[in-house]
Amino acid sequence: MLCLTQDVNQKQKRDFIDRKEKTIVKNQQLKKVGLKVTVPRLRILQVLESSDKTHFSAEDVYKALLDIREDVSLATIYRVLTQFERAGLVNRHKFEEGHAVFELANSEHHDHMVCIDTGEIIEFQNELIEKAQNEIANAHGYELVDHTLVLYVKKLKKT
Ligand SMILES: [Zn+2]
Repeated sequence: MLCLTQDVNQKQKRDFIDRKEKTIVKNQQLKKVGLKVTVPRLRILQVLESSDKTHFSAEDVYKALLDIREDVSLATIYRVLTQFERAGLVNRHKFEEGHAVFELANSEHHDHMVCIDTGEIIEFQNELIEKAQNEIANAHGYELVDHTLVLYVKKLKKT
């Protein structure tokens, strides 16, 4: 029993150190892009980084913050996400019929599918498409600089 308690204490201590280190990293990230470190900015960055989810609407961030008892107004969240976007920390996607979603800019290049029934966002990468896009641009006498590709999909019906 004592042993177990010690383990738990050790774990808490490790978690605490982990959190502290992560906060330092986030402080540096914010400073690097020229943003002053503020509590809302830190917390929002924390939400974007700590979840399995990769695409967030401002409302998603709002709810995630409420879950950890951080009451940051939706207006502030919008403002911070826009600042993050300008600073290159996040990418904003505006999918049809949906609100803007944000994702961290450090993820590998990928394209998106959006399910028109559920709004689910699916990421994919396809070398052939990447290559074809380059070739199309070249064929028109251009160099490809960037692209956005969104497929609007719905689940195949099982037969
Ligand atoms: Zn994505």
